[in-house]
Amino acid sequence: MKTPLSKKNALAYHAEGRPGKIEVIPTKPHHSQYDLTLAYSPGVAEPCLEIKANPEDVYKYTAKGNLVAVISNGTAVLGLGDIGPEAGKPVMEGKGLLFKIFADIDVFDIELSDKSIEGMVNTIKSIAPTFGGINLEDIKAPECFEVEDRLKELLDIPLMHDDQHGTAIITSAGLLNALEISGKKIEEIRVVVNGAGASAISCSKLYLSLGVKPENLVMVDSKGVLNKKRTDLNPWKQKFVTDRDINTLAEAMKDADMFLGLSVAGVVTPEMLLSMADHPIVFALANPTPEISYELATATRKDLIMGTGRSDFPNQVNNVLGFPYIFRGAMDVRATAINEEMKLAAAHALADLAKQPVPEEVNIAYQVTNLKFGKDYIIPKPSDPRLITHVAPAVAKAAMDTGVARKPVTDWDAYRDELGK
Ligand code: NAP
Ligand code: MG
Repeated sequence: MKTPLSKKNALAYHAEGRPGKIEVIPTKPHHSQYDLTLAYSPGVAEPCLEIKANPEDVYKYTAKGNLVAVISNGTAVLGLGDIGPEAGKPVMEGKGLLFKIFADIDVFDIELSDKSIEGMVNTIKSIAPTFGGINLEDIKAPECFEVEDRLKELLDIPLMHDDQHGTAIITSAGLLNALEISGKKIEEIRVVVNGAGASAISCSKLYLSLGVKPENLVMVDSKGVLNKKRTDLNPWKQKFVTDRDINTLAEAMKDADMFLGLSVAGVVTPEMLLSMADHPIVFALANPTPEISYELATATRKDLIMGTGRSDFPNQVNNVLGFPYIFRGAMDVRATAINEEMKLAAAHALADLAKQPVPEEVNIAYQVTNLKFGKDYIIPKPSDPRLITHVAPAVAKAAMDTGVARKPVTDWDAYRDELGK
């Protein structure tokens, strides 16, 4: 029987034994006095001098190449809002745990007491030499956009704000497969994005890269449709202003083929769903309570393809399907960035994996017998052991194809074997 999820259990899990969820473990022998003279002074001076002479040797002699910083200032933590850096630390440690178990990537979680763009950029730039990659996390919009853009300019290691791009990559995979099932063309679909924050803006950008026509995408924020009458829009929202003369979500939903919710609970009504086109795609991702519940949506229309952020319903959009493998692939080729092509490659790899027969261990993990590609299975499951060998090489190859890989893979079979171990 499953142990119930309760406040008591969650707190005990974190507090029992050594508090928190991660620790640092030496990777070299350290029991003899001789070992210690190698690990520290005087032996350690040798790699220092090698790296001084050839900075790239930092990847040869230190943990940098397998080390990601998960960095947050605690301003947009889960659905909890601006709870501060200390309160956000359990989430960042949790992300460290996920990086480790799914992709064997080590993480230092870093919580910053700075909300200013300038302060965050300077601090992260200063600590970047330590790391092979940087995962920005739970930093609120719109600051997160500028922090990421500026750091991408300044740094030459893979860097990604996961709340934006992880979500974009995974929903893109779901979108591609949902379109395949409904027989629609991406160039023709009408999309409504409810929410205009960190994740909504990035998802919309990636959908345009996938082929959605800008004139077919309508974005809605807490004040209504982003249209030409709006004078209150920040530069990121301004890119998604529609020419159409509509103001409300209800108007936007009429005849739409896709609804993407990255906003708040309960804003979609059955009437809105009924006004959508045939076989609509509904990704209602507000967490923990979606824009419309799975039960109500599927009772309202039988022809919809639905995804939520929840693990208790089909098609969970869970960022853990992306970030461990995106960073794995990017860092393995020592990419200088995570670019649009690498994100698209990850989305296509995830979409492709969902179409392949599911290993028995995944069925067992989810207590089902017949998981197979269809409207209730358009996105792989987080426990699928093939994710790493599928997504990481796709990302690595896209990095190589776009000229950002400093250490290309030469033997793909050997690389996949290594990943699968
Ligand atoms: P965010 O940056 O704070 O953005 C929230 C956006 O929702 C804002 O643009 C806000 O509008 C808008 N909004 C608020 N009330 C609204 C309403 N009644 N109608 C339309 N828009 C409304 O947050 P985020 O990080 O993008 O996350 C948004 C939601 O998606 C959260 O619930 C989060 O948990 C969820 N999410 C889920 C996944 C997943 O399932 N994998 C991934 C990412 C995010 P204003 O701009 O006017 O304030
Ligand atoms: Mg997050």
